[in-house]
Amino acid sequence: MLTDTFEVLDERFLRYAPGNVHLERLHTGCRWAEGPVYFPAGRYLLWSDIPNDRVMRWDETDGSVSVFEQPAWNANGHTRDLQGRLISCEHRGRCVSRAEHDGSRTVLASHHEGRRLNSPNDVVVKSDGSVWFTDPTYGIDSDYEGDAAASEIGGSHVYRFDPQDDRLGAVITDMSKPNGLAFSPDEQWLYVVDTGISHAPDGPRHIRRHRLEADGRGVGQGEVLATCSAGLFDGLRVDVDGNLWAGAGDGVHCLAPDGQLIGKIRVPEVVANVCFGGPKRNRLFICATRSLYAVYLKTRGAAA
Ligand code: MG
Repeated sequence: MLTDTFEVLDERFLRYAPGNVHLERLHTGCRWAEGPVYFPAGRYLLWSDIPNDRVMRWDETDGSVSVFEQPAWNANGHTRDLQGRLISCEHRGRCVSRAEHDGSRTVLASHHEGRRLNSPNDVVVKSDGSVWFTDPTYGIDSDYEGDAAASEIGGSHVYRFDPQDDRLGAVITDMSKPNGLAFSPDEQWLYVVDTGISHAPDGPRHIRRHRLEADGRGVGQGEVLATCSAGLFDGLRVDVDGNLWAGAGDGVHCLAPDGQLIGKIRVPEVVANVCFGGPKRNRLFICATRSLYAVYLKTRGAAA
């Protein structure tokens, strides 16, 4: 143990964990914090408070926190696109949307083959501008995080939306409840969390990895990379060395590219999601149940 913040399980973790750094709590008072995204040009972070139907804003210049948007379509996961625009997964909107530079909202994807999406959960933008997202049922299972409804699609898939031609394609259709997702730094691999254990006692609680096809538009068969040893993985991000930083029941788990758990950031609340931010992208922001935390690391985020 370096500090009360970091738990070292493999010596590979030592190079990422500063010895004099501690976890900081930046805000509390949410019901379920999710979907962090950092905007370097504005030096602020947005995140979702899903049951309260609001998006929060933490200002890096003075540390203040305010409500960015409410109501907010019970937004969940967020990311930035290549132009720096906010991309949102909306439970109640049952879509993935984009905030334009003039502030207006554009729905990017709401239906697949004529059927409404369930409740998009988490999203990542690839270097070609395509928008990849997961669509489990958590936002339609009850009225708590959206509007209760039956699934029209009848399954929970991973999709790719191409803003060039507005086409939406299902890229993974054999998961139970796909959740957080991220690409490896070289975009040769897509990592996707499956939290199917929430709906079946023997369901998955693991991260799968899928190799990208040569054209970068689809993926091959998946394989289990890591099973969560404490609660569930939810959201994840990848650093420049290809390590995965994933939310879990006892904090943030750091997995080496081979899937081995090499260390943890201990967090006193269940962690839903993380993102890298700060001017150097070396600060990990952590959405954990009621609170927003942050910790500096000796690595940088690979992407938004
Ligand atoms: Mg999630």
